[in-house]
Amino acid sequence: MAPSTPQRNGNGTDPRHVRVGIIGSGFGGLGTAIRLEQQGDTDFLVFERAADVGGTWWANTYPGCQCDIPSHHYSFSFAPNPNWSRTYPKQPELRDYLRATAERFGVYDRIRLNCEVTGATFDEDASVWRLETAEGPYTADVVIAAPGPLSEPSYPDVPGLDSFAGTMFHTARWNHDHDLTGKRVAVIGTGASAIQAVPHIQQAAAHLDVVQRTPPWVVPHRDRPISRAERFLYRRIPALQRLVRAGVYFSRELLVPGLVYRPQLLKVVEKLARKHIADQVPDPELRRKVTPDYAIGCKRILPSNQWYPALSRPNVDLVTEAITEVRPNGYVTADGTLHEVDTIVWATGFYVTDIPLANIVTGREGKRLADVWHRSPQAYRGTAMAGFPNLFLLVGPNVGLGHNSIVFMIEAQITYVLGALKQMRRRGAGTVEVRPDALAAYNERLQAKMGKTVWNSGGCASWYIDAQGKNTTIWPDFTFRFWQENREFDPAAYVLAPARLPDPAAAVAS
Ligand code: NAP
Repeated sequence: MAPSTPQRNGNGTDPRHVRVGIIGSGFGGLGTAIRLEQQGDTDFLVFERAADVGGTWWANTYPGCQCDIPSHHYSFSFAPNPNWSRTYPKQPELRDYLRATAERFGVYDRIRLNCEVTGATFDEDASVWRLETAEGPYTADVVIAAPGPLSEPSYPDVPGLDSFAGTMFHTARWNHDHDLTGKRVAVIGTGASAIQAVPHIQQAAAHLDVVQRTPPWVVPHRDRPISRAERFLYRRIPALQRLVRAGVYFSRELLVPGLVYRPQLLKVVEKLARKHIADQVPDPELRRKVTPDYAIGCKRILPSNQWYPALSRPNVDLVTEAITEVRPNGYVTADGTLHEVDTIVWATGFYVTDIPLANIVTGREGKRLADVWHRSPQAYRGTAMAGFPNLFLLVGPNVGLGHNSIVFMIEAQITYVLGALKQMRRRGAGTVEVRPDALAAYNERLQAKMGKTVWNSGGCASWYIDAQGKNTTIWPDFTFRFWQENREFDPAAYVLAPARLPDPAAAVAS
């Protein structure tokens, strides 16, 4: 097929070709757009499949949805919000913050809403990405993909799932038209989403089954409203809020020695969690059921003051038998019991190590990212993949965190990616592509660190570990090390080549 020259539209209103195409408008996509805008690189578009910006904070609207990292820190460093109403804001406040930030920094009108990217193919002849979107085709010199690792709801593979005659939905696709009042409800799963939603569901439902496969470790929640006086001070003295932000950051990093190097150090947190159970669960049988048998930190440590009291209510059963089947009128557990329910809420997490985006991205030689990864993703610095030139992934493999703000990692990645774009411009390069040897060495180093971490050695099964048994989700170190490593783009790990000169001998630099 003859290469077609990308169409450029000079009027700036609806270009079909852009220098940078950004996928997703959560923290990653918006942060990238704003940083590009700030440095005068305005030749970009953001493609967002949802009806508005916010990513996970737009999509998750389940009752009780709240950030479990304090937002003085869980927010952009360049856009502090002195007006947070509470230390751990609820979802609508975070969604509104992201929307307001997009408008404030002038990028909102460059976001294509309801515009899902359904295909992204690298055209080697033209050195551009060809994007198929809900608005038709676009081309982009560079694609920065920020789809979020927790965006595609996952349902367990239970026989009969589709036969259910009642109402069922996932926490990340909450059905607000369905009134839970007086209903018999089952919530499947006891992760971060479930423990926030269950206390609210319990209050409405006639009866609630909470189906638990593995109990989470739960610690007391420190959430509280932020007083008007505090907000006044933050507005008047921004340095004060920066100080609080730094305090949150460093206090959370204190967990890293225990998470990464010596899980025994987390015993002090485990003691706190055990006391929480003792304080909040009077029934010894329930206490036994909710007490985990794996090291704390192996799965995300969850803060809640309402979880155990909700499980202790008379209209709640904690079901610990495995679900074996779904029938039109309920679900069946391994002991053969049919539990009749009107509503099933799947709080069963997301596709993380097999993100759907990998299925629609095709790089050099027609290779799909999903086929290259084989459900065990890896990237250089969590960002770049060999065979996929000019493609950068935000919150890619081994960038995830269990203990601190992912926004910190995202900002570090954005700095790195903007450094790559600068290098491309400086060297007149049309493509930038990580070297396979750099990619392999980086991941060997990461995996060598994993063995001792609590995520790998703590005795739990979690979505941090992929289909090949590797931890390809979590960053195994202090987060400031990630920041240090990403402060500057490192061209030595890449091949930068001039546009439309695929001959390796023509490489500009190595
Ligand atoms: P999750 O942590 O993956 O939890 C899924 C739950 O479903 C687990 O309890 C899992 O049990 C259970 N499950 C899966 N298949 C099952 C089956 N066949 N039968 C019974 N139970 C089953 O998902 P999530 O709660 O949505 O949270 C995902 C991530 O989103 C969190 O780790 C966090 O990073 C993020 N999140 C953050 C916040 C926040 O406040 N910042 C809030 C919500 C979510 P097992 O434990 O046995 O696998």
